[in-house]
Amino acid sequence: MNRIWVFCEQRDNVLQPVALELMGAARSLAAQSEGTVGALLLGSGVSPLAQELIACGADTVYVVDDEKLAHYTTEAYAQAICQMVREENPASLLFGATSIGRDLAPRISARLRTGLTADCTKLEIDEQGSLFMTRPAFGGNLFATIICPNSRPQMSTVRPGVMPKPVRDDSRQGEIVPVTVAWQTEKLCVRVVEETKESQSVENIEEAKLLVSCGRGVKNTEPAFELAKKMKGTVSSSRALVDAGIMEQPRQVGQTGKTVRPQAYLAFGISGAIQHLAGMEESEYIVAINTDKNAPIFKIANLGIVADAAAVMKELNKLLEEA
Ligand SMILES: Cc1cc2nc3c(=O)[nH]c(=O)nc-3n(C[C@H](O)[C@H](O)[C@H](O)COP(=O)(O)OP(=O)(O)OC[C@H]3O[C@@H](n4cnc5c(N)ncnc54)[C@H](O)[C@@H]3O)c2cc1C
Repeated sequence: MNRIWVFCEQRDNVLQPVALELMGAARSLAAQSEGTVGALLLGSGVSPLAQELIACGADTVYVVDDEKLAHYTTEAYAQAICQMVREENPASLLFGATSIGRDLAPRISARLRTGLTADCTKLEIDEQGSLFMTRPAFGGNLFATIICPNSRPQMSTVRPGVMPKPVRDDSRQGEIVPVTVAWQTEKLCVRVVEETKESQSVENIEEAKLLVSCGRGVKNTEPAFELAKKMKGTVSSSRALVDAGIMEQPRQVGQTGKTVRPQAYLAFGISGAIQHLAGMEESEYIVAINTDKNAPIFKIANLGIVADAAAVMKELNKLLEEA
């Protein structure tokens, strides 16, 4: 049986967007390989989330609802997941490439003595259930497709924001399986004493429907903020402006920044380096403004404007003001 499992990350008992994105990906992989989708839901007081996972594509939700999992700790989560995998032998196991997923997945793959492909941007499958896991390599200049032919489960972490979220179907039926873990308590050496949340200093560009994105061709970013405010969007950036200390890192789009897929992406003075495109090419509608008509960004833009970024921002701000 080709079981495709997804670790469904929750924080404060709210499913993270990447968990739902992976449910959609797993559903489509299962459809191509006559497989089933299993969701791993771990935490304390998380059981009510199981139905949402079924609506988003899970056939079976394995729930470990235990106080020991109230706060994320590597050992407790690894013990629970390794036990489930050893009992059920899934063919594939997917994680979001979040800080938790990046911490947990390698620990589990080492314990299970199987392979892990980190930071994937694409997943494909053949009829036998073999995964083809694609990730950027050599500084993003090429993409490597990696297979795991000799061990199971095939494991992968997938970048948040790369895969679309599935359409929720509340009429879907699925099974909810409560799991009890045989804890090796002597190994649970870490106790969370206090949790301090970092206050979010900039808006989350991954959630934005419209991004006004600035590159090195933007000399003054103030009009970009004005424009984003008028269009109810958010300002993002290429790495060039982050490296120059002009923009904050959480605004960076691209391979070493965030992956975004807004309804509209306005790229001002961005050349379109492959590492930048990796983070935004799935945007629904791309407008590129660049003085160089040969800039690579124009190859993926729906609308290209060969013009000075500052002049276009000024004109748009003026038009919106009048409107
Ligand atoms: C391992 C690695 C990871 C990386 N990760 C990222 C990443 O996550 N995100 C990222 O963005 N980059 C990343 N980079 C860097 C990337 O290769 C590029 O250097 C970077 O994206 C360039 O940013 P830019 O387009 O703003 O600047 P440039 O490439 O310098 O382009 C500036 C553009 O502005 C245009 N321009 C100039 N003046 C004007 C004007 N007045 N009006 C309009 N247009 C104008 C120019 O024609 C040019 O096309 C990475 C690189 C490496 C090696």
